[in-house]
Amino acid sequence: MTYGESVSDFFSPTGLRPWQRTAAGAGLLSPDGTIAATIFAEMSALAVRTGAINLGQGFPDEDGPAEVLEAARQAISDGVNQYPPGIGAPVLREAIAAHQRRWYGLEVDAASEVLVTAGATEALAATILALVDGGDEVVTFEPYYDAYAALIARAGGVHRTVPLRFPDWQPDLGELEAAVTDRTRVILVNSPHNPTGAVLADEVLDRVVALAERHDAVIVTDEVYEHLTFGAPHRPIATRPGAWERTITISSGGKTFATTGWKIGWLVAPAPLVTSVLAVKQYLTFVNGAPFQPAIAMGLGLPDAVFTDAADRLRAKRDLLATGLREAGFDVSVPDAGYFIVADAAALGGHDGDAFCRALPERAGVVGVPVSAFVHPDRAGAYRSLVRFAFCKRREVLEEASARLARFSAG
Ligand code: PMP
Ligand code: GLN
Repeated sequence: MTYGESVSDFFSPTGLRPWQRTAAGAGLLSPDGTIAATIFAEMSALAVRTGAINLGQGFPDEDGPAEVLEAARQAISDGVNQYPPGIGAPVLREAIAAHQRRWYGLEVDAASEVLVTAGATEALAATILALVDGGDEVVTFEPYYDAYAALIARAGGVHRTVPLRFPDWQPDLGELEAAVTDRTRVILVNSPHNPTGAVLADEVLDRVVALAERHDAVIVTDEVYEHLTFGAPHRPIATRPGAWERTITISSGGKTFATTGWKIGWLVAPAPLVTSVLAVKQYLTFVNGAPFQPAIAMGLGLPDAVFTDAADRLRAKRDLLATGLREAGFDVSVPDAGYFIVADAAALGGHDGDAFCRALPERAGVVGVPVSAFVHPDRAGAYRSLVRFAFCKRREVLEEASARLARFSAG
């Protein structure tokens, strides 16, 4: 099997992702020895095979700021082609520290409190492997970005979840409180949130901080959509009182500069936490992306309008797709941030979102991702008819996708 080609493997009769099906619950291979492709790879492969419009995997179909792309070309010409320092190129660490100060008023020491990683994914992986020992509990909201469950399982941790419910997606504070105990090692927060596009309310963030303090847990926060908010500007949890000293803030240049393939990510945290994560990271990738690091550094220094204009353009795309989905008969939850809209396909007969998404490319020429892929199979029920669609695509692509969905629902 070629990686990412086995749709049938994903839609297994057990309803479990292949890595969940192994005896240990943490393997990365299916029992038959095939590679367990992610939902994103699966659905992108399905889009290629059927020629459908891919609103599944979240990647833009247009380039970001030309200066950033040119800076990478220049860096390659200038010979920035060998291993950068293990903690990241100084110019990028300085730019990340300056970015945290400029946007959030956080004073960060570029020398000891910033670590450059191979995308946010490596920051998440190294952090979880560094902090979580066998039996340690990790609390996340649910639905959750799929890598979280796989990484927690790999580390031998126990994954506890707090439900977010369609269409508002804010957690119940009592349920949050009940999930965090003295066994909790990490509370992993993702705001703005994938797949729902929710921005967690300040009272939720404050409760996370209070619970982390009470139970001596580390807060790990995935903020890759920090600049793609459509209402109030993003406020990192690390800025909340009491949070900084126990928080690892993770982000990435991929979403902000439409460079998802460059995989330049980072984390910001107090020096002892950075050191713990670096101990793992140095044997994962060691380093990555030498010429892309100065390019992302220059991007982080671009004027405010570059960031806010990109969010405004994305907001207009959100509105376009939300309208298209509504006109096609979906019930839509309008996101406050990010790349994705979650839509309820029940009114279109899509009570089983997995089956609906599997059939949609052939029947409508559009790819979406079932929200059940972001949920443990035992708890998929409440999310069964929900589908995630990406709107980080050109207007004409979203218009065509909307037209196809309208024809599908009419026919
Ligand atoms: N976290 C979330 C919530 C994401 O949506 C993604 C995917 N873009 C990542 C992490 C991974 O980011 P990166 O591509 O920088 O590894
Ligand atoms: N973050 C992207 C999404 O949610 C995909 C990243 C990936 O393919 N692993 O669609």
